[in-house]
Amino acid sequence: MDLLLHACCGPCSMYPQKVLKDQGIEYDMLWYNPNIHPEFEWNRRLINLRLAASHYDVKLFEVEGFMEEYWRSKSYLEEFGSRCRMCYDVRMDMAAKYASENGYDAFSTTLLVSPYQQHDTIIEVCKEKSVKYGIEFYYHDFREGFREGQNMAREIGLYRQKYCGCIFSLEESDLKEKILKSMN
Ligand code: SF4
Repeated sequence: MDLLLHACCGPCSMYPQKVLKDQGIEYDMLWYNPNIHPEFEWNRRLINLRLAASHYDVKLFEVEGFMEEYWRSKSYLEEFGSRCRMCYDVRMDMAAKYASENGYDAFSTTLLVSPYQQHDTIIEVCKEKSVKYGIEFYYHDFREGFREGQNMAREIGLYRQKYCGCIFSLEESDLKEKILKSMN
């Protein structure tokens, strides 16, 4: 199987990449995360994902996209019901479309590794996109290896973020001041 793995960041990619390698699945990775704000953080996570990709010697495709104003507008609430649902929709739509248009057999996402994400909603959105673009959704409950993946990331010196990604998750964080300081 030739798979496209959407990756939200370097640390979250570590365990899913290990699983795919262990299973002998050929894969490339895709960066498309317009939900990460501010721009400093967007760049910092991308740089660390590049390190994670080169650690496993895999290709990383990068699709531009930065949507802080859209997130702040809240104009999507009526359509999606919540900002996280919209966030998964925007990213999985690109992942499934990119995979379908570029000859992959399936797509998946590193979002499935995090116990802090809405796992069932991610599955639901991925299944919708699978039908929309006629491409298989590869599911694995990567949460079993969340800690292992974080340890692997620490071992190779990756930056491990302290908030989910969007401007609201930063503003709501108890560690906001510390995080903002780390951006100076
Ligand atoms: S909290 Fe996380 S999943 Fe929800 S909208 Fe923000 S970045 Fe996306």
